[in-house]
Amino acid sequence: MNDAHAVVVGGGIGGLSAALALHRHEWRVTVLERAAELREVGAGLSLMANAVRGLDALGLGPALRRSGHGEAPGGIRDRHGRWLSRVDAAEMVRQLGTTALGVHRATLHRTLREALPASSLHTNAEVEHVESDPDRAEVRYRGPDGPHTLDADLVVGADGLRSRVRAQLWPQHPAPVYQGSTAWRAAIAFPDPVPAAITWGPGAEFGMVPIGDGQLYWYGALNAPPGGHAADERAAVRDHFGDWHAPIPALLAATPPDVVLRNDIHHLAVPLPSYVQGRVALLGDAAHAMTPNLGQGAGQAIEDAVVLGAVCARGAEGLPAALVAYDAQRRPRSQAVARASVVAGRFGQRLHHPIALALRAAALRLTPGRVALRSMARYADWRPPVG
Ligand code: FAD
Repeated sequence: MNDAHAVVVGGGIGGLSAALALHRHEWRVTVLERAAELREVGAGLSLMANAVRGLDALGLGPALRRSGHGEAPGGIRDRHGRWLSRVDAAEMVRQLGTTALGVHRATLHRTLREALPASSLHTNAEVEHVESDPDRAEVRYRGPDGPHTLDADLVVGADGLRSRVRAQLWPQHPAPVYQGSTAWRAAIAFPDPVPAAITWGPGAEFGMVPIGDGQLYWYGALNAPPGGHAADERAAVRDHFGDWHAPIPALLAATPPDVVLRNDIHHLAVPLPSYVQGRVALLGDAAHAMTPNLGQGAGQAIEDAVVLGAVCARGAEGLPAALVAYDAQRRPRSQAVARASVVAGRFGQRLHHPIALALRAAALRLTPGRVALRSMARYADWRPPVG
């Protein structure tokens, strides 16, 4: 074991992936999570082929393939159920070398957690301050028994959309903004076979993803002002999507009202000038919170983690240069994916004018299958660094 120590701020999918990547390269890791319990809120998750490859590199691919559901996305329908674009799933798998994976977030989070030494995970630990110079870093946090200070060779800021680490180190950087859409999601028991696919309507999108073990994850996203809430969110989803094509009404009928989550979609619209300052590296939503339109937010966090582990394989030795390499490998790609996600949302879920919808439907129907496949596979075609 090298004697290098990393403190990871945040125990979400990004933070735990980073901790695991570093742990596999023999770092001692300390994960500080402010919540009282280490768990993942939210329903399911689509992990594209790049994310699945990242999880393979972390040694978790086989377990997650067993508990999740492997399937390439089937395509896009209109709200009457007519296919606008179909993807040749077998060809996609052949090109990418793996399927995408639908998983329950709780399963992914638990699998990551269980791969780490229990002693490295600290809950009720709210990070208040991070300091770094070229030679060392320090993290101050408040635990249940009062304030603590930790020395670290490396600090990983994986504290999500509203990252305190980002705000502290890049104080002038614009805060995340509202994308203009609200999203409902749920994971439900639904044993009937359903293809992983999305459906577009005016200013709206409904997606369904089998996540293994007879469970299905659905989401519905809609153009809306921010801050909306309904006393009964499932009823609100039914108002908007209840007359869409089968099996959407059946999925909503099979959804217990209390499992429906609702979130407004925010993203870091202005890209950061760097993911690294001194011995601090940002990762996941803290670095590049993106809209969910390409299903890539967690995937990019997993990629970040794998690359961070790889560049830090020699421990604290040469760390500043390793972090420069991390920034160079991760920033252009993750920011390109974030930009593409905004564009995908503009052309997809957010489009609402009837003429634009008709033009889009015509364009999609005319697009040859191989072109649709290429555009869907574009960002999923990533491989972890070798060695
Ligand atoms: P987070 O999950 O936000 O974790 C940050 C953690 O840091 C939290 O546990 C928080 O409590 C903790 N924390 C914060 N501040 C502090 C502090 N000061 N001290 C200590 N701890 C702190 N991505 C996909 O790949 N596929 C999808 O299908 C997909 N669908 C999505 C659907 C929706 C509606 C949304 C909103 C997002 C979706 N995403 C998807 C994106 C994905 O959920 C995120 O990109 C991913 O979860 C980010 O993980 P993270 O660990 O970076 O951040």
